[in-house]
This record gives sequence, structure tokens and C-alpha cells, in this order.
Amino acid sequence: MRMIYAIVGLAMMVAACGNGNNATTSSNENNNATKTIDVQFNADSAYNYVKQQCDMGPRVPGTPAHEQCAQWLTSQLRRWCDTVIVQQAPVVTFDGTALNCKNIVGTFNPAATDRVLLLAHWDCRPWADNDPDKALRSQPVMGANDAASGVAVLLEMARLMASQRPEVGVDLLMVDVEDWGQNENEDSWALGTQHWANNPHVPGYRANCGILLDMVGTRNARFTQEYFSKQYAQGVVDMVWNAASQAGYGSFFVKQPGGAITDDHVMVNRLAGIPCIDIIDMRPESDTGFFEAWHTTHDTLDKIDPASLQAVGQTLLQVIFNW
Ligand SMILES: [Zn+2]
Repeated sequence: MRMIYAIVGLAMMVAACGNGNNATTSSNENNNATKTIDVQFNADSAYNYVKQQCDMGPRVPGTPAHEQCAQWLTSQLRRWCDTVIVQQAPVVTFDGTALNCKNIVGTFNPAATDRVLLLAHWDCRPWADNDPDKALRSQPVMGANDAASGVAVLLEMARLMASQRPEVGVDLLMVDVEDWGQNENEDSWALGTQHWANNPHVPGYRANCGILLDMVGTRNARFTQEYFSKQYAQGVVDMVWNAASQAGYGSFFVKQPGGAITDDHVMVNRLAGIPCIDIIDMRPESDTGFFEAWHTTHDTLDKIDPASLQAVGQTLLQVIFNW
């Protein structure tokens, strides 16, 4: 993913004026529910899922570590979900590399008509092109935060939901080939999500809302309200940030507008028509707009703080179990 432009006041004004986009309404009628829930996210378990991904090495598409991770994610989801679908597709990246893209979908309550789509990309960027050391910029990114953190939260949720069943349908979509993109070229990013949105894993697939997790694991993570999320899905933004407050994580989920990010959620909104938001750690004080180790060789396990995984995971459980 990449930051397109940093905006604060302007984004708020544009979103507030609105453009009649009907995708901004969420059909969840329990938005203001204050019910506390019994299901407790386990941050140590989620942290361990980050570690297990990093132990494989950078999960760069086309490498053995990537294939190993695909098999591991699939087997993990098969332990817990009602159905698991691995969607494979040939994709060609902006630099002409042909890859076998694997989107992995684990589903709970496949027959439910009300559905929540949770997604995260699981691939790692092939080059640390933001590394402060120019000699390291051709190295792959380990992706402890930029990939593994979001996937780890989804895995821990799957583990919990296997025993404490949600009433709403839940689809955990782990998308591939998000991060093999080029700055000037918006369509070069999120190739796995583009494929899924044009060819959903279930024909005619619909969800009430989509929630993307990206870079949710670093210390002092700060989730402001990303620009496209507000533009396409303000109702979902409100629902999730209110759930965070109810769960006690309002200090992580800050009710302020953030920057505009090209990420998987943009494709879900534009191509699949599902109102989808991005929970993403934005750092307006940094040069890139993201955490310091973003797209460097320093995006490693030591940057992960279980407290941030906890804030995101418990917030999502609050959404799911209050549905
Ligand atoms: Zn990235």
C-alpha cells in the first residue's frame, strides 16, 4: 500500500459534504449497542501467529516461503472454519513478473445472509525500497507488521470463533500479491484483491461490510479514520470506532480523519461494491506517513506489540458478537 496524499481537514470536508454514494450506509442496526461481550481476544496467541509467519522468512510471491505460508494458512483455517476456499489465479505484476496468486478464504456460517468480510494481505513486498541503507533496498521485506500482523489477528479470531460461534456470517479473506506495486501506478497494487473482487470465491457473494487490517501490530499504533474509508463507508467507520470505544480501545482508534491510502479496501469498494474500511496505522509525523520500518528491512518481529494486536482483535470481536 502507499499513502497518496496526507490530508486532514480537507478530507473531512469532502466526506462531510458527501457525494450521494450509497455505499456509505451500513446495514448493521446494532451500531450503538453497548453490550459487553464474553469473548476475549488472546494477544499472545496472535503474537505467536506473527512469529510463525516470520519464522518462514519473507513471504514474497514466487518463493518457497510464500508457498509454505499458503499451506500453513490453509491448514490453520481448515482447523477452525466451516469452509475454506483457496482461490488461485495467474497474475502479472507491473514489472512483467508472472505469479500464481493465492487468495485464501475461511468462512463461518456460510448460509447466513448478514455477513462481515474481514481481510488482510498475507504477501510481503519483494524489495525494501524505503530502507535507509541503499545497499539493502533490493532485499525483501520481512513484513512482521506489513502483512503478518493483520493475518495474525484474523487467525486468532478464527481460533476463537471455532468454539464461540458468532451469529452473523463471517468471511476471513487473506489476499495475496498486494504489495508488489509501483508508486505512480495505482492499479499495480492489490492484485489479489482485484482478482477476488472481479471473481468472488462464491458467485454473487455479498457482505454487509468489509474491514481491512493492514499494519496493525506496532507499538503505539494509532488508527485514524482513513480517507477512502470515510468516503465509501462512513457508516462502517462509525460502527468500528464506536465498538473500539466500547471495548476500551478508544486511545488506539482515534476519531480523527487520516490520510488517503491505496490499499485492498479501495478495490473492494470500487470493484465489489461492498462498503469496506481500512484499519491502518498512520503516522503523519513520519516521512512516509507510516511506521518507521515501513518497506524497510527493519519490519521485523521486535516491532510488534501484543497490546496493539489486542486493541484491534477485541474491537473486531465487539463488532462481530454485537451484530
Ligand atoms: Zn506494504
